[in-house]
Amino acid sequence: MKNNNKNYKYRIAIIPGDGIGKEVIDACLTILKEVLDLTRVKISKTIFSWGSNYFRKHGIMMPNNGIEKLLNFDAILFGAVGDPEIEDDITLWGLRLEICQKLDQFVNIRPSKFIPGVKSPLNHDLAKKIDWIIVRENSEGEYSGSGGIIHKDLPNETGTEISIFTKKGCNRIHEYAFKLANSRSAKTLTLITKSNAQRHGMKVWDKSFHEISKKFPKVKTNTILVDAAAALMVSAPEKLDVLVATNLHADILSDLASALVGSLGLGATANLSLNKNVPSMFEPIHGAAFDIVGKNIANPIGALGSSALMLNNLGEKKSANIIFKLINLYAEEGGPFTPDLGGKASTSDVVKIFLQNLKKLNIKK
Ligand code: NAD
Ligand code: MN
Repeated sequence: MKNNNKNYKYRIAIIPGDGIGKEVIDACLTILKEVLDLTRVKISKTIFSWGSNYFRKHGIMMPNNGIEKLLNFDAILFGAVGDPEIEDDITLWGLRLEICQKLDQFVNIRPSKFIPGVKSPLNHDLAKKIDWIIVRENSEGEYSGSGGIIHKDLPNETGTEISIFTKKGCNRIHEYAFKLANSRSAKTLTLITKSNAQRHGMKVWDKSFHEISKKFPKVKTNTILVDAAAALMVSAPEKLDVLVATNLHADILSDLASALVGSLGLGATANLSLNKNVPSMFEPIHGAAFDIVGKNIANPIGALGSSALMLNNLGEKKSANIIFKLINLYAEEGGPFTPDLGGKASTSDVVKIFLQNLKKLNIKK
C-alpha cells in the first residue's frame, strides 16, 4: 500500500482508452463500486483520459510524465486502444506497450475457463474441459520493437522486425510459469515454441525452459509447436493446463482461447510487475472493436474479470471471488447475453442484471 490515507486502501489508475474500452470500463466500474461497498474495501480512482483523443490534441498518446504518474498507484485498470484514424502501431506503442515495457510488466497472465451456460463453438463435451492459463512473455520476443525501415517510400522499401530472446527474459518468464504450474493440481506446463523453423531466438527460449525445469522436478512438461497447439486447443482441450508462450504466440493463442470459451469479449488479463513498488495493469484482452463502438452492446465481462484479477492481485480475495461468482451466476441463469454471446442484451442491461444478482447473493456488510 502506497499511502497512509485512511479514506482508502488502494489507489487505482483507470485508463479507459479508446472505442469500447470506455464502455466496458464504465460498466465494470459501476459493478465494482457496489461490490467494494459490500466488502468495505475503499479505493480511490483516478481516471486518465489518455489515448487517441489525447493524441489528436497533443500528438502523443499520454503525457511525457505519464509513467511517473502511474508509479503513484497500486494498480492500473485499462480498457483498450485503437482508433480508425490513427495507425495501430502508434496507438499501441504510445500507450499500452509503453506502459507494459516501462513498468517492466513482463508477465502477462491469460486464464480461460469453461463457463457453464455460455455457448462455446466447440461441442459441450470438449468445451467443458477448457481450463487453461496462458503465461505470455510480455517484454521482448516478437514485440521487442527492434527493427526499422530503410529505403522508405522507394520501390525497394525494406522493413525488419527483430525478435529478441534474452536469456534473462526467457529465464524469468519460464520461472514464473513453472511456479504457477506447480501451484495447480495438474502440475503440467506446456512449452509453446516454433524452434523447428526459427532456429536462433526460439532455441534460446527452449533452452532456458529446459534449464529452469530442473528446479521444478514435480512439474510435468511437454513441448508443442505453436501451430499444433492451436489445433490441440480445439481437438483435445484437456491436454493443456498452463502454457508458456512468447509475446506473439500467446497473443494469438489467447484470442483463440477466449473465443473457444464463447467470445473475445470474455477474456481477462493481468500484466504483472513483480516489483512490489510498481503497479501491475489489468485489462480485457480485446481491442477497441470499431465495429460495435457506441452501440452499447460491448460485452463487459472481460473488463469485469480483469478487475477481479486486479483485486486478487491486491490480496482482496473476497471481493474478487464475489465478481467471479457473479459472472458464473449470470451465465448459469442464461444472461441475458450481449450479441457476441448470441443474445440481444445491451451493455447497460448486463450491468443491471449484475447489480440485481449481487443483491441475490445476500452478502452481509
Ligand atoms: P478487437 O478485439 O477490437 O475486435 C475483434 C472482434 O471482436 C470485433 O468484431 C469486435 O466487435 C469483437 N469484440 C471485441 N471485444 C468485444 C466485446 N467486449 N464485446 C463484444 N464483441 C467484442 O480487435 P481488432 O478488431 O483486431 O482491433 C481493433 C483495434 O483495437 C485496433 O486498433 C487494434 O490495434 C486494437 N487492439 C487493441 C488491443 C488492446 O488495447 N489491448 C487489443 C487488440 C486490438
Ligand atoms: Mn491481442
